Amino acid sequence: MPSLFKIPIEKLKGVGPKSGELFRKLGIDTVGAMIRFYPRTYEDWSNPYSISEAPTDTPACVKAAVEEVSRPVRIRGGMVLLKAQVTDGEDRMSLTFFNQAYLYDKLREGGEMLFYGTVKKLGNYYEMASPVIADPLAAGIHPIYPKTAGLSAKKLENAAKSALDMLPQKINDPLPEEIRCRYDLCDLGEALHNVHFPDSFEALERARTRLAFEELLILQLGIANMRGGRKKTTPTHIEHDVSDEFICRLPFTLTGAQKRAIGECVTDMLSSPYPMNRLVQGDVGSGKTAVAAAVCYTAAKNGLQCAFMAPTEILARQHYESLSALLQSAGLRCELLTGSTKAAQRREICSGLENGDIDIIIGTHALISDEINFCRLGLVVTDEQHRFGVAQRSALITKGSDPHILVMSATPIPRTLALMIFGDLDLSILDELPPGRQKTATYLIDSSKRIRALGFIKKHIQEGHQAYIVCPLVGQSEMSELQSAEEYEQMLQGSLLSDARIGLLHGKMKPRDKEKVMAQFSAGELDVLVSTTVVEVGVDVPNATVMLIENAERFGLSQLHQLRGRVGRGKEKAFCIMITDNQSNTTQERLRVMCKTNDGFRIADEDLRLRGPGDFFGSRQHGLPELKAAGMSDMEQLENTREAAHSILLCDPTLSFPEHRGLAFETDRLFSRAGGHLN
Ligand code: ADP
Ligand code: MG
Repeated sequence: MPSLFKIPIEKLKGVGPKSGELFRKLGIDTVGAMIRFYPRTYEDWSNPYSISEAPTDTPACVKAAVEEVSRPVRIRGGMVLLKAQVTDGEDRMSLTFFNQAYLYDKLREGGEMLFYGTVKKLGNYYEMASPVIADPLAAGIHPIYPKTAGLSAKKLENAAKSALDMLPQKINDPLPEEIRCRYDLCDLGEALHNVHFPDSFEALERARTRLAFEELLILQLGIANMRGGRKKTTPTHIEHDVSDEFICRLPFTLTGAQKRAIGECVTDMLSSPYPMNRLVQGDVGSGKTAVAAAVCYTAAKNGLQCAFMAPTEILARQHYESLSALLQSAGLRCELLTGSTKAAQRREICSGLENGDIDIIIGTHALISDEINFCRLGLVVTDEQHRFGVAQRSALITKGSDPHILVMSATPIPRTLALMIFGDLDLSILDELPPGRQKTATYLIDSSKRIRALGFIKKHIQEGHQAYIVCPLVGQSEMSELQSAEEYEQMLQGSLLSDARIGLLHGKMKPRDKEKVMAQFSAGELDVLVSTTVVEVGVDVPNATVMLIENAERFGLSQLHQLRGRVGRGKEKAFCIMITDNQSNTTQERLRVMCKTNDGFRIADEDLRLRGPGDFFGSRQHGLPELKAAGMSDMEQLENTREAAHSILLCDPTLSFPEHRGLAFETDRLFSRAGGHLN
């Protein structure tokens, strides 16, 4: 199998240099990658329906014979219309095809054929628009691949077929035989054939189970590998717990949970035989920054240098502004380093870090650039860590020798997943909000009530507050039903918010422009911030009291929770209004969870239950690779794969045994897809 990853995709029959480009767009650059490119879903052509028995609400395969075909005619808009009549002996159905004149000859041959599409019933009259047609021999389960413009379904299917033909008779299976037996998993060859061209839905399920198992297993091996080597040396312990000195300088009293978390961190650094390796999970607004600051203070007062890395410049600056005065007045030197730090200052910071004058550096991923060297880096803190690629985190860590590590996550992760993703990380949970916080009241409406929602925002603006409006996309999009931030902003200019000062923030803007808009909003110079999800991370503007989320169905629950966390950060009661026109039960049920609870952990559990673990992966969420096979039904696999990973690593921690060579290869492959991904 590894060797197929060396054969360029263009070597496949029917793939030339031009379509090769399109394959590459989908990430398919080699024959091996094509084989590992699994269908998105399947069409069931295996048991064709008769016309009257076919479902009318979902596409299905109907078997019928062509009775009559009319010549293609040109209609308005330059389209070509082709019509045909088919019958199954009992009923008749009319078919329409647009711009597919080439089907005329095929249909005229007559005889029985398969038609895949949605049957519409009007009285006792049936019709199907633009069906896919095939020979009755094509009955079976058809793979549907994720598409890219210009690459037809047929082309992908053929490529998958010829790629599978290139598989050797005997494939080296990355899963050792012993593991396959223990968990009753089919072998790789069978799984690959059946995931593309299943003989039955049972065979498909077996293939998927096996591929998901493999994927989850190599994910865990990879994570363990990344952590490998750590914990071997003795850490730089600290001598004194001075955290109280810092705590009493804070302008507020810490919550019990904050105190507990600080205590746990300090104990790790004081007395554990290993460097601290701790994850602080706290819901939005639970006060993670204060915890991190107290830990930095304690480490710095004990002579360790600290690096505090945030995923965006806005956040880094925010942390710097709220912490530097406190730390500075306690005699610690604290500096800020981001992509926009001027060269001269940058040089000064570099030398300050090298000679040890700087105790605490707060910054963005600028901190991991090569020119940055520390004199005695002893503590690495990453905030909102799900935005960092795993690779970036380790780049910072290796600038010290076995520093203590504190990871702060605002995305509550269900415990089952946290165990897996963070393996041996110790966990502190901030399950308590600072006093006086009110629950953000959350509503779900459809777009017919948008005007009222805007009126509600107007009222809040008149009272001196601010609002966020979140849209899923930027600029004109093909999916016109989606509200895009730019168009939306223009729409608002002409709405009842025309008097409001409106700003626009989206991911395609230059960092400097983003900063500027954010700063204006922070300073209260803008009333409304229309934004894509860039506003999701950590931004703290307590005066903002309303958030309106358009096309809420497009977001995951955890993401909605993050977004909502931008409001309700002050003393005022806050509101979150989600708009969706999607009336499907699943969507409504999912979104209603938001109205019912403000508890991030409960929401994460629901998200996991409703969407499966796949969504927790992908570099954007947790800096972990995207999963291709593992999905909803694989929760119990998680436990099995954890167990399997553990037993493999116990006897072969470096995956160097011959029977683990395939696993080592797949692990490298999975993680080369992740890494280095910063928003
Ligand atoms: P998050 O956990 O989302 O990062 P922050 O650290 O940004 O939360 O804290 C949110 C807000 O709550 C900040 O304005 C912070 O100053 C404030 N805060 C944190 N801890 C407390 C506390 N114990 N009492 C009152 N306010 C607090
Ligand atoms: Mg934060």
